[in-house]
Amino acid sequence: MDERTLISTYFAGRSTGRSDVVLGIGDDAAVLRFEPDWDLVVATDTIAEGTHFPAGIPARAVGHRALAVNLSDLAAMAAEPLWCSLALSLPAADPMWLEEFAAGFFALADRFGTALIGGDTVRGPLSATVTVQGRVRPGAAVPRTGARAGDGIWVTGNPGDAVAGRYLLDAAAGVPESVRATLLQRFLYPEPRVREGRALAALATAMLDVSDGLHDDIGKLMTASGSGAELDAGLLPLSAELRAAVAERAIECALTGGDDYELCFTAPAQATARLQEVAAAWTVPVTRIGTVVREPGIRWQHAGRVLTVPGSTFRHF
Ligand code: ADP
Ligand code: MG
Repeated sequence: MDERTLISTYFAGRSTGRSDVVLGIGDDAAVLRFEPDWDLVVATDTIAEGTHFPAGIPARAVGHRALAVNLSDLAAMAAEPLWCSLALSLPAADPMWLEEFAAGFFALADRFGTALIGGDTVRGPLSATVTVQGRVRPGAAVPRTGARAGDGIWVTGNPGDAVAGRYLLDAAAGVPESVRATLLQRFLYPEPRVREGRALAALATAMLDVSDGLHDDIGKLMTASGSGAELDAGLLPLSAELRAAVAERAIECALTGGDDYELCFTAPAQATARLQEVAAAWTVPVTRIGTVVREPGIRWQHAGRVLTVPGSTFRHF
């Protein structure tokens, strides 16, 4: 059973309907309205050793990542993060490991003004579950459902770098040290695009964060929006480091590798000039890679030829 079937069979649509739930299960975060001036935005994500990160990566990276993947979900809603809680399952209480984990966690929390307000600690296999809460002005959250035919499809950053970094943890033979260091950083310390997401509130029609690979995640965005996509792999912003590390497999990494935590969004053609103006202040590039179309399905081309995407995307089940 895949994750989506599991959630839709056992959890989605089973709880009591409440009129204050603006957006429930199925997006990057939930949106709740119980006061007039703000919508509350809530997301939870777990990272588990062996599933989301390999054993032996620095504790500082685990602490950073536990929060980063959650801030990324809030970014995908265009929300401002405020509070978080942390449920930690640990095989042992190792003070050196915990010191480093906390350093990674709080360095990121401090940068985004997010306060740790509670959590839970238990003995068990290593995993960290974070819940983040944030806010948007009423109606300003960007859902997955708003893409319309004719909208451009955009992505921030350099997809593929993170999965290449993950490969290089084990096999770095022949890759220059500076290339390896950059790609490892992209895997170990993903940067949640919180400021960029918030700036897109008034521009994007639909948005998600890329955690499972660009191809699959664009599929989710288009399915939620009842649309399809035509994309050009020649437009992918492949980094020089990715090309240096994996050569002709760079496109495959960008399309099917996970762990990017970049934002993928759609925006109407009329918004392009404004978008470029806003993005000029960002430290991360933003690139148009395709167009939303009516016909369902995700179609890639490269140099005028149809590109078939191998089904190698990361899956939890
Ligand atoms: P993301 O990759 O953006 O974190 P997920 O794929 O983890 O999203 O989850 C998809 C949707 O299903 C989200 O809205 C999430 O809140 C919801 N979800 C996941 N697991 C459960 C569960 N066990 N019970 C209820 N909702 C869940
Ligand atoms: Mg998400």
